[in-house]
Amino acid sequence: MDNKRVFHKPRPQGHHDDRSDRHDRHDRQDRHEQERKKNFSVSEHFKRDDFKCSCEDCQSEFKISLTLVGVLEHLYLKYDQKIEVLSAYRCASYATKRGGSVKKSYHNMGKAMDIRLKEGSNAELFNYINTLPEIKGIGYYPKGDYIHMDIRDKDKSVWVFEAGAYLDLTDSLRQRYKLG
Ligand SMILES: [Zn+2]
Ligand SMILES: [Zn+2]
Repeated sequence: MDNKRVFHKPRPQGHHDDRSDRHDRHDRQDRHEQERKKNFSVSEHFKRDDFKCSCEDCQSEFKISLTLVGVLEHLYLKYDQKIEVLSAYRCASYATKRGGSVKKSYHNMGKAMDIRLKEGSNAELFNYINTLPEIKGIGYYPKGDYIHMDIRDKDKSVWVFEAGAYLDLTDSLRQRYKLG
């Protein structure tokens, strides 16, 4: 815990820091403003709480790509239901606590979302998202029956996460999970 790395927005974390000493007035005003606008609308059908970090250390900060929000609104119309956002933004503290790499996490950059349909086939949703040019990273997680999508700058990457491993989408996996 002592050599915890801080990548951006250094903030005191945990319960032992005296937060007020370490923040200037401007920061306090910012947070005041955030508090006032709590759970504001980000788009027509989605609010801050759909995208915020779920850990308890960062006071629910978030950043999210408006491209992804646009994709979500598009899916809302296509499937005629609110898409469930399981996880969008994850702060550095969230990632390090779970042993993940912050640098590589598109969630930490506000460029990724884990989503699923409440009603309908998530395999079908996966197939559809896989046709969207904006989405460059897409993974299917059969255990939780959800989809990770991101807007990485690199070449397109498609995978199935099974038994703790990222697997290339082979024909047998396509068949097993009805993925296109
Ligand atoms: Zn957090
Ligand atoms: Zn994800």
